[in-house]
Amino acid sequence: MITKETIHATALELNRLAAIQIPADAREAVQRMYERETKTLSKYVLGQILENYRVAVKEQRPMCADTGLPRFYAKLGNDAVVEGGMVALEGAIRHATAVATADIPIRPNRVHPLSRRDQNNNVGIHSPTVDYSFEPDAEWLDLTVVHKGGLFGGDYRMLFPADGIPGLKRFLLDSISEFFRRGMSCQPVVVGLGIGGTKDVCVRLAKEAACLRIIGDRNPDPEVAILEAELMDLGNSTGFGVMGLPGSGAIMDVHVEVAYTHTGGMPVSIQHFCFAHRRMSARIEADNSIDFREDPRWFTPFYRRDSIGYDGIEEPAA
Ligand code: SF4
Repeated sequence: MITKETIHATALELNRLAAIQIPADAREAVQRMYERETKTLSKYVLGQILENYRVAVKEQRPMCADTGLPRFYAKLGNDAVVEGGMVALEGAIRHATAVATADIPIRPNRVHPLSRRDQNNNVGIHSPTVDYSFEPDAEWLDLTVVHKGGLFGGDYRMLFPADGIPGLKRFLLDSISEFFRRGMSCQPVVVGLGIGGTKDVCVRLAKEAACLRIIGDRNPDPEVAILEAELMDLGNSTGFGVMGLPGSGAIMDVHVEVAYTHTGGMPVSIQHFCFAHRRMSARIEADNSIDFREDPRWFTPFYRRDSIGYDGIEEPAA
């Protein structure tokens, strides 16, 4: 059985690692951009970002003063047993987030949206969020924490089937001109696109695509993978470099996720995840051993399944 104490200790350490240690895929992407950048100011900023990554680890301090809004993703094996159930799991995550806010420390950014009441611990109504998914034939619990602010770089548009790929490209370019020219999503960024579903589903998918896949990863659907590469080339051909400066590109990667949608529409959402690319994951096994890793492994074949059945689960007779 996975205990509350293990979940609490894991959530605490995830917050600490995410705040301080930018994952290797993001560090290497920024390094590659630095090496190929030809414009002086953009190259200088990229060099300072790399230095910022290094100093944060050396001094064990958060990589950005704005530590965003901690949010959790929990993927549960279908056979996982959690002591006290999901209520205890969320209790452990909330308590660990409050402790992490005081101890790391991370900035207590969460306030009530109207009264601006600040509980000084990043905990409140729907805070931190915990999103769930499930996996067959497993007893483990995967926990991922993401520190992302969400003030800028997010957008939604209802497109129609006839808008097609050109409509998606137009939306990407509009989001770049909206956020890049003012340096408002702190580029370089990973761009996530959620296409299809309903408005809420495509916004969720865009955020997951930006935050929960490693840089360089391609969608297993070849058509979607080609779109990811095309959008990345397009986005990096605008003349924008990092932080609104002229340069050779400010996109580390483009990740696209799709959901079946209403036949009359093609809703789409875009999310930018900045160079303070704070995510960390861990697997807790049934014996309470913990393995920390940088790849969230959120988008599994089961999570992206498109049929009624899956492996041993039979489809009903026609
Ligand atoms: S967008 Fe990213 S880099 Fe910019 S202030 Fe927010 S967390 Fe820091």
